[in-house]
Amino acid sequence: MIHLESFTPVLQLLDSGNLVIREDGRNTTIFWESFDFPADTLLPDSKLSKLGWKLDDGMQMFIRSWKSIENPSEGEYGFSLDPPEAPQLVLRSGSRKLFRWGPFDGIRFSGSSTLTANPLLQTMFVYNFKELYFKYEILDESVLSRIVISPMGSVQYFTWRVNISREWNLVVTFNSGPCDNYANCGNYGICYSLSSCKCLSGFTPDSPRDWGLFSYSGGCRRKHELSCENIKDCVDFYYESREKRPTIFPIKILSIIFSKVALASLTAFCSEKALQIPIRSDPFPLPISPPSSSTFSCYRNLQKMADLEAPLVRPKRKKVWVDYFVQFRWIIVIFVVLPISFTLYFLTYLGDVRSEWKSYKQRQKEHEENVKKVQKRLKERNPSKDGLVCTARKPWIAVGMRNVDYKRARHFEVDLSAFRNILEIDQERMIAKCEPLVNMGQITRASVPMNLALAVVAELDDLTVGGLINGYGIEGSSHLYGLFSDTVVAYEIVLADGQVVRATKDNEYSDLFYAIPWSQGTLGLLMSAEIKLIPIKEYMKLTYKPVRGNVRDLAQAYIDSFAPDFDDENNEKVPDFVETMIYNPHEGVCMTGKYASKEEAKMKGNKINSVGWWFKPWFYQHAETALKKGEFVEYIPTREYYHRHTRCLYWEGKLILPFGDQWWFRFLFGWLMPPKVSLLKATQGEAIRNYYHEMHVIQDMLVPLYKVPDALEWVDREMEIYPLWLCPHRLYKLPCKTMIYPEEGFEQERRQGDTSYAQMYTDVGVYYTPGPVFRGEVFDGADAVRRLETWLIENHGFQPQYAVSELDEKKFWRMFDAGLYEKCRNKYGAVGTFMSVYYKSKKGRKTEKEVQEAEKAQVDTPYAEVDQPE
Ligand SMILES: Cc1cc2nc3c(=O)[nH]c(=O)nc-3n(C[C@H](O)[C@H](O)[C@H](O)COP(=O)(O)OP(=O)(O)OC[C@H]3O[C@@H](n4cnc5c(N)ncnc54)[C@H](O)[C@@H]3O)c2cc1C
Repeated sequence: MIHLESFTPVLQLLDSGNLVIREDGRNTTIFWESFDFPADTLLPDSKLSKLGWKLDDGMQMFIRSWKSIENPSEGEYGFSLDPPEAPQLVLRSGSRKLFRWGPFDGIRFSGSSTLTANPLLQTMFVYNFKELYFKYEILDESVLSRIVISPMGSVQYFTWRVNISREWNLVVTFNSGPCDNYANCGNYGICYSLSSCKCLSGFTPDSPRDWGLFSYSGGCRRKHELSCENIKDCVDFYYESREKRPTIFPIKILSIIFSKVALASLTAFCSEKALQIPIRSDPFPLPISPPSSSTFSCYRNLQKMADLEAPLVRPKRKKVWVDYFVQFRWIIVIFVVLPISFTLYFLTYLGDVRSEWKSYKQRQKEHEENVKKVQKRLKERNPSKDGLVCTARKPWIAVGMRNVDYKRARHFEVDLSAFRNILEIDQERMIAKCEPLVNMGQITRASVPMNLALAVVAELDDLTVGGLINGYGIEGSSHLYGLFSDTVVAYEIVLADGQVVRATKDNEYSDLFYAIPWSQGTLGLLMSAEIKLIPIKEYMKLTYKPVRGNVRDLAQAYIDSFAPDFDDENNEKVPDFVETMIYNPHEGVCMTGKYASKEEAKMKGNKINSVGWWFKPWFYQHAETALKKGEFVEYIPTREYYHRHTRCLYWEGKLILPFGDQWWFRFLFGWLMPPKVSLLKATQGEAIRNYYHEMHVIQDMLVPLYKVPDALEWVDREMEIYPLWLCPHRLYKLPCKTMIYPEEGFEQERRQGDTSYAQMYTDVGVYYTPGPVFRGEVFDGADAVRRLETWLIENHGFQPQYAVSELDEKKFWRMFDAGLYEKCRNKYGAVGTFMSVYYKSKKGRKTEKEVQEAEKAQVDTPYAEVDQPE
């Protein structure tokens, strides 16, 4: 206590430059010191100036700008550490927050690349019983430095190199990034880049309209109200994380906040008035940039807490007869489907052998005759009487999951069943010329013995060249070669008027060449395609690497497994094959393959695994063993590797034959596998088909590589489907905008895996029964798919059209670009001859009237006009 009567203050300038007030004589206590008021400059020596708090008397130390360059009196702007519980640096104009960096996550101030340790400078956050402050230190003694807040409100970092410079050099202005702007993205919004915000998962824009106009400050709101159970999850989660909490101080602080928020939320929410009480009035710690991988997990946990949403508990579903039928479907599969499948495979094989006996010349001659038959057939059509043109392929024969309902409306069939020959394998041009019904099994049987393969060999034996071109096709080498259609150099097409044309990227039909992929045969009938071949070796050297963490960690591990070394020229370090399987939200196995010669594979110590034998474990289960035994490498014969997923149809085989993976079944009946997808489709009635639409998901999500973490989070939350298949593919920037196209400006951003000519995408394969269905809960499959498609539209993703779509036409054309497709439809007379791609993909029966109306609408309204944001 100070007795004012006897208190004689002394003002003293210390040798350090600190101007202090203390009591005269005996008492050394300092009552006031100028270093607590560092004016507009923060120096690296924390004894001289600090940004922070004295905890005993609650005094705040901050810097304030001058009024002007000539006037050192207090200006408008202040830079402080604010508030003490959540260490973040804030720049204010008066009392208004302008910018912020933080909170401090133990390593850096989140969202700031400038306030990160570097070889010159180390930023630190100090916390002890007396003080809590930010400081920085200079690691090179030959450099003087200062942080200054300018009269205009810029926080600037200057250096002076002793004996070298003769002036202060401005190194960086901290408040220059768009994400530093306070509340740029509003509550629960994450700032990514200039004019790009997104909501935390589980949240949705409060005003989608404003967000559509790039005005994000309204922020986001929860998609679902939190339920007590979720809050309990938060608290459980807190207690769990408290056990493991690191001992360093900042994390303790975060944990305290974490506990406060969780417990307060629980109390508030579970009281009667809870529904009205926001979980956080000032959402912590937003807006933020995405945390770096080095950020402590505690920080992520805080984010995770923000993600929790209801309803996690879905009501139970009552079982119906179809449930029991599906449960015992294996009986039909074993006794009917498998024997017929095997016979069909055998007959197809004999057909392939017969075709191979013919010379290429003979095959080409037959091909020309068959093309003439197609032309003749098309000319027989009377447009006013006959329906639209379709191939005569039965709907159930195609591998895709669409109902192909359009074939139930009146249509005019053209039989293409004779087009199943490989017409030529030209080793000089490195081109395979194939008819559309050539399948993957057939082409690898012919090319692999020559040490050649298509650049992209889709995994399932039954997939056809025509389907993979007109629909979509991908595989583990697509990170180098793009989608199946990207490897085609020429198409032979019969147009609506019966004319045969050869379209290449640089001839007069180049527009048609670029429009064919994803057009679903609605521009013309494909007669043959010339496809790029690549040299291969006899074995695939495959490395299986287990990865663990949360879904974002798994996604990053997948990205790092192949993408770090990507550049425009040198693909040497990049694996030939890439695939990752995510087995649950915490575990996955990343696989990378390199072609290897048989000499290398057979070297002593190397393990050769012929995964193609019928008795071998299913591939996805074999890969999963890496989670137990750790990373391993083995050599797989190349053709067997290509078709590794055929026998168990990825993991769908497990649902169709629950005991199909048992050793006794594999040894006794494994040679009958797989059941033909076409036969499975043929043996299911309408009710089962609808059941699968509701209770089962087969979808591929093509998303930019950097969005894979978000996609995994989305699937985990909305569908809980595992395993997931991750396979990267290039999406090329082509001379014209095709139905699918990379994001604008990706070349400038150049994220992991991108090159100047292609953006790296990933196919997230979502095939299986969703978690809620396994648990016997209500699951609305159609709604889930609709939301998946909406998510894809919002994230510049694409959905392959072999899968069921729930989109209306307007939304469909928001996912795909219609410009070139529509131009070619009109130019090449497809309108009125072939159904439009949307109507072909659309779920549900298409009546004659519906189709005609759609055709009319198409003629009247260019899709480019339809393709407007809502
Ligand atoms: C269980 C399952 C597994 C799958 N696995 C893979 C995989 O491993 N890799 C992969 O890339 N994809 C896979 N897919 C998706 C598959 O790629 C698509 O279904 C693709 O369209 C090929 O199927 P398809 O050969 O049966 O062609 P279809 O479904 O018969 O054809 C697809 C489209 O192309 C059109 N078309 C076909 N031939 C012609 C022609 N000659 N002229 C004009 N139009 C034509 C058809 O009319 C149709 O619209 C899988 C799908 C399922 C359901």
